[in-house]
Amino acid sequence: MESIALASTSLDAYRGLVRDELIADVERLARPLRGLRVVHLNATPTGGGVAEILRSLVPLMRGIGLRADWLVLSRDLAFFAVTKRLHNLLQGKPGELSSGEQEVFLRHNELMAAELARVVADVWVIHDPQPLPVIATHPNLHPSIWRCHIDTSTCSAAIRDFVLPFVTQYDRVVFTLPEYVFPELDREKTLFISPAIDPLVAKNIPVDREVARRLLHKLGIHPRRPLVTQVSRFDPWKDPMGVIDAYRRARQRVSDLQLAMVGVMAAQDDPEAVTVFDEVRRHAGSDADIHLYTQALQVGDIEVNAFQSASEVVVQKSIREGFGLTVTETMWKGLPVVGGRAGGVAVQIRDGETGFLVDSVEECADRIVLLLQDRDLAERLGRAAREHVRHHYLMPALLRDYLSTFQVLVGMRRAA
Ligand code: UDP
Repeated sequence: MESIALASTSLDAYRGLVRDELIADVERLARPLRGLRVVHLNATPTGGGVAEILRSLVPLMRGIGLRADWLVLSRDLAFFAVTKRLHNLLQGKPGELSSGEQEVFLRHNELMAAELARVVADVWVIHDPQPLPVIATHPNLHPSIWRCHIDTSTCSAAIRDFVLPFVTQYDRVVFTLPEYVFPELDREKTLFISPAIDPLVAKNIPVDREVARRLLHKLGIHPRRPLVTQVSRFDPWKDPMGVIDAYRRARQRVSDLQLAMVGVMAAQDDPEAVTVFDEVRRHAGSDADIHLYTQALQVGDIEVNAFQSASEVVVQKSIREGFGLTVTETMWKGLPVVGGRAGGVAVQIRDGETGFLVDSVEECADRIVLLLQDRDLAERLGRAAREHVRHHYLMPALLRDYLSTFQVLVGMRRAA
């Protein structure tokens, strides 16, 4: 178990970026919770959306007076191989965990629960399936929230049967969307919270387009030819093959098009990425205009920002997506995203108003070409996209939703 070192962020820093009423709501909710010890636990300190959120949310919780901490599991590859399988099964991939896999999963969770028994908290927030069963052997993991970030809408009954005995032990279960809820769960204990991005971090602060294009030039991108980008872990649910196919079709009409796929392999809990990347590289073949990036030293937050700010079109061709922070990040930069009609992508993008939703490679290629050819349309959709994010998906809104939930849990504890 590793504790992530973080500073605190003042809520005041968000004034002017979000509505004043939202800041006032957060201040009001925070007052009675000052001093509350909140512990977040997740699988990895880098790579993927959960780490991205906690890196900003925990300092902001501290900024309003909570004693918030972020703990990360330190486990071995065998554990993460099983948890990635479980992640895929929860997202609807057919199959089950073998008894050997279940044993690895549960044994590691017992060890983590023993480590956690030494940690003091007033409220626990356990993120995603990797540490879900810690509640079973921990002496008293209450009050607690299980925060599920993934799209569980098509998960099989067999997999639900496996996880439900753990899920039901939590005091509250938080999903991103109503369609992700397991039908067996008590509705009174179930909540929905939208993830959010942080407009104050290097990845999301405004950058000048020309400066960004120069930075991308250093990474091998031609500065004057059109660029389409997908920023995503190399994961089958993000449909990287479909992205390449859509680029190839679009290129038949826009002959100088380039493609960038940015998928830095920083997530400890995603050992599958190496295999997927090999397949993607083979599919890309010898096309010198397909640029693949996997190294954190080469593509950090500033470079991701540059790709999301200065590409002509950003795609997120997911076929399953809990939320899709990459969509939010790009929309915040005033670019319309061409997104697969899946889970959280379809909630963020209003088709034809703040971007485009697509159901196939052909449609994806058509929308890429449309946005490349009609720059006024791209600009109009991009402006609407930014405002949509401002109103719904910036960090103070997420903080407000957590604080409301904490108030309920603290009230329950007092009553008990
Ligand atoms: N990300 C990144 N570099 C990469 C790929 C992704 O920094 O090469 C970040 C991305 O900017 C976003 C997060 O990782 O903040 C991915 O979150 P998302 O919700 O889109 O997907 P997840 O990986 O959680 O499935």
